[in-house]
Amino acid sequence: MNHLNQSDRTHLHEYMQKATERSKYFIGYPIARDFDYSELYPLLELPLNNVGDPQVESTYDLNSRSLEQEVLAFFAELFKAPENNWWGYVTNGGSEGNLYGLYVARELYPTGIVYYSESTHYSVQKNIQLLNLRSIVIRTQENGEMDYDDLRQMLQMHRDQPVIMLANIGTTMTEAKDDLGQIQKIFRDLAIKNSYIHCDAALSGTYSALLKLNPGFDFTYGADSIAISGHKFIGSPIPCGLVLVKKNYKERIGRSIPYIGTVDTTITGSRNGHSPIFMWYAIKKMGKNGLIQRALAALAMANYTVEKLNSIGVKAWRNPDALTVVFPQPSYKLRQKWQIATENGKSHVICMPGVTQEQIDQFVSELEAELNENTSTPNRLLSSI
Ligand SMILES: *Cc1c(COP(=O)(O)O)cnc(C)c1O
Repeated sequence: MNHLNQSDRTHLHEYMQKATERSKYFIGYPIARDFDYSELYPLLELPLNNVGDPQVESTYDLNSRSLEQEVLAFFAELFKAPENNWWGYVTNGGSEGNLYGLYVARELYPTGIVYYSESTHYSVQKNIQLLNLRSIVIRTQENGEMDYDDLRQMLQMHRDQPVIMLANIGTTMTEAKDDLGQIQKIFRDLAIKNSYIHCDAALSGTYSALLKLNPGFDFTYGADSIAISGHKFIGSPIPCGLVLVKKNYKERIGRSIPYIGTVDTTITGSRNGHSPIFMWYAIKKMGKNGLIQRALAALAMANYTVEKLNSIGVKAWRNPDALTVVFPQPSYKLRQKWQIATENGKSHVICMPGVTQEQIDQFVSELEAELNENTSTPNRLLSSI
């Protein structure tokens, strides 16, 4: 049989309608939705695969390596990677980039200890387990940023061991940024000999670098590797990301594999060849200036959201230059409808490109109606967080 039967067709059709409908109420995850890649659709007919190292051609010639390399070069420049001494690849997402960064760090410092804050993304803890690394969790401040006093104390207790620092450039719940300057000052004060800094910039890395936001986190600020997600700020129908490392570090990893005619320097084997093209297209179409304007518009929307929520009495706030707006959790019903992530009583809306003022207005008015309707909840909602 070469076609769907009627019931499967109905099932698919219903699913497609539901997905389209749910996309209208998508303000709680950091995923840009304003892209149009229709020009690329013919490529979905091809099994593009960038298996192995992006810089080494493969016998598998049906790939998008040339475009991937341009994407990597764009980000290497954006993150001020040392010229002629950087390497990277387009990953399956920020989590894989974090795994890669920690993998490289472990190859350099097998006895190193990973330090990461309690606001760190869940992928990091899993990666540490996979790599069988030792680790220490550092307390966070109220806004989600690392508590540097706690870091100093922990480092002091283990100052004879190499330090593998996991710095957050935008935490998952509050979009807080750890300050590489403060971290490195502690390294110097304690005369730490061997250290490695990986920046988990999955959430905020791209627009923070485009807008040159403080604190800086690129290679000139001391990063040894940086991971970002491609489907967040850039936007992509397929989850993707990118990792960059200093090339001399990476040279410890990877074997030549005759079967694929290239070098196995990445975490996964096959890598989808389509997402580098989506990223390439976005970068080329919008250009650096277009991307900057888009980031500024998103920040303005975040500011608008805070003000709008404050205007109905909800104690909403955001970290400086953050797209993430944090507020006390609304009802389960609203969180389900608007797909709003919640942790320890805190919820957030993330004003990624594609979130519209109409959506914010609608959400806020639904929240207001809920507050007026149920007089027993306002106290909880209005209480400070
Ligand atoms: C999204 C995110 C990740 C994981 O990225 P994926 O692309 O979902 O794998 C890691 N860290 C932070 C801070 C994130 O926001």
